[in-house]
Amino acid sequence: MSAPETGLLDNEEQALAAAEGLVRAGPPGPGADAFADLTRQYARLLRHVRYLIKVSDRMQVELNHLNDRLRESEQKYRSLFENVSEGIFIAQLDGRFVDVNPALAQILGYKMPVEFLRAHAEDSLWPFLDETEKERFLGTLAEYGVATHLQLRMMRRDGVAIWVEINAHTCTDVRGPVMAVEGMLSDITERKRMLEELRYLATTDGLTGLYNRRHFLELCERELLRSRRYRSEIVLLMLDADHFKTVNDTYGHSVGDEALRLIARLCRSQLREVDIIGRLGGEEFAVLLPQTSLQAGYEAAERLRNAIAQTALPLGDGRMLRFTVSIGVCSCATQKVTVEELLKAADQALYAAKDQGRNQVALQPEG
Ligand code: GH3
Ligand code: MG
Ligand code: MG
Repeated sequence: MSAPETGLLDNEEQALAAAEGLVRAGPPGPGADAFADLTRQYARLLRHVRYLIKVSDRMQVELNHLNDRLRESEQKYRSLFENVSEGIFIAQLDGRFVDVNPALAQILGYKMPVEFLRAHAEDSLWPFLDETEKERFLGTLAEYGVATHLQLRMMRRDGVAIWVEINAHTCTDVRGPVMAVEGMLSDITERKRMLEELRYLATTDGLTGLYNRRHFLELCERELLRSRRYRSEIVLLMLDADHFKTVNDTYGHSVGDEALRLIARLCRSQLREVDIIGRLGGEEFAVLLPQTSLQAGYEAAERLRNAIAQTALPLGDGRMLRFTVSIGVCSCATQKVTVEELLKAADQALYAAKDQGRNQVALQPEG
């Protein structure tokens, strides 16, 4: 695009052509020379104007290009912002949300971002579950300027608490030097629940709900280290149901299962919160009593044995099943023992209890 094509300088061009005609046709003289000089200057000025118009046109074209690209990139960003499944947010450093995408609004129970922002403006603590969770988020950002895979709890519109994972960083706001927070948020409630379920399945005995053998031994290792550090005593009980094969043979396997569950319940009710109870396998259980003397451990075992012997299992047909257990007790007071050694000592005590006629508590052999 150039100036003559637009007709922008048509009048000026015509004036110049007329002036140049006059210069050529007019008689010479001092006046004519001055006029010719003025005409040349006018022609130069017109060339400059044409050049400037050309440059300005080129800049306009460039500007249009830039605007198009900006619009495209804005559209791309908008489309991403509107359509991703992750929640995206811009917030202030005090935790107030300024802009959120539809996914974030939906994660927290709203259809539209504007509804979310309105509810949040009315109660700026929401959607954080409480002050502690909000502070964990803001504290991390204040300290590091960034929060990576930060897991915290938020509250949905319907009041249900959910787990979210946040990746965010502080940055300067586009409108000025004010700091803002940009971040992404995803709902990990289901992932957390599945992990929790997996952890439960991996550590728990399916029949009784007690710790399984592997996890019980792990917890024993931990407790043994602690007792060594604090020089405290620790007691291990090994418990085995008496004549359990006969229980199964007489009443059936499912009654046997019920009896095993009853033993687990009585262990829980007769022992302390801190005591670690596990099912080692079959009809064999073990209990670790932290910070307990051999004498106190013996008394706890005796109480448990008695409770089991006194409790009858209703069989549904009016009959009641009574059964007993034998318990071996050992302790590690000062000596450095391993879990295996403790288990072996308790097993020997259990063997002695069986040998003494069952429904007995026996202490580990001396020496
Ligand atoms: P003792 O007094 O010497 O311990 O005799 P016992 O019959 O209890 O010992 P034994 O080791 O001969 O039998 C253990 C029985 O425990 C055999 C098995 O069927 C039963 N048992 C093991 N695990 C389970 C279980 O999960 N459910 C049921 N119902 N029975 C089980
Ligand atoms: Mg048995
Ligand atoms: Mg056994």
